Amino acid sequence: MNTLCSTRTMTAVAAPAHAGRPVVHDRYADLADIRLAIALSAEDDAEDTEDDTGLDPFERTTCYTHRRWLHHCVSSPLHVIVVTGYRWCRRCEREVWVAVDELTGDVSLSCAKCGEMPPGPANRRLVRACRASLAAAAEAKAHPHDEPWTVRSPRRLPSRRHAA
Ligand SMILES: [Zn+2]
Ligand SMILES: [Zn+2]
Repeated sequence: MNTLCSTRTMTAVAAPAHAGRPVVHDRYADLADIRLAIALSAEDDAEDTEDDTGLDPFERTTCYTHRRWLHHCVSSPLHVIVVTGYRWCRRCEREVWVAVDELTGDVSLSCAKCGEMPPGPANRRLVRACRASLAAAAEAKAHPHDEPWTVRSPRRLPSRRHAA
C-alpha cells in the first residue's frame, strides 16, 4: 500500500512496525468505523493501569461492552448502575432516561417517574461523558481515518513484582 515504508522497515529493524500508528485492539478490528475502534482501544489502554493514574471508567466516551460511542448505547439497561446512582433516581428508585440531540450536541437526563434530573455527581458525569462522546463521534464523522493502523491484542502490563 505505502511504498515509502519498504526501505524504512528494512533499515529500522529495531523499531516496531506499528510505531507511531494508531492501535486497534483485535476485539474491535471488525468495526466499520475505524475512528471508533481507535478510540475504544485508546480508552481501554488508558483505563488499564496498575495505579490511580488511569482513565476513570465513568469519563469514557466509548463503551467496552457494546463497542459503541457511549451516547449510542447509554439507553441500554446495562448502563444503569443502582449502587452509584448512575442513570438512576434514588428518590423514586427508578431508572433515568437519556435524551441525546445529535444536531445540537445536547444531552439531558430525566427520571422515568418524577421527570427530573436527579442530583448527584454520578448523573452529572454521565451527562458530561455523553456530551464528550457526541463531540468525538461528530469529529470522527467529519474526519474519517485514512492512515494505516495496527491491529493487536491489548498490551500486557509489566508486572510490578519484578520491577524492584
Ligand atoms: Zn454500552
Ligand atoms: Zn425520580
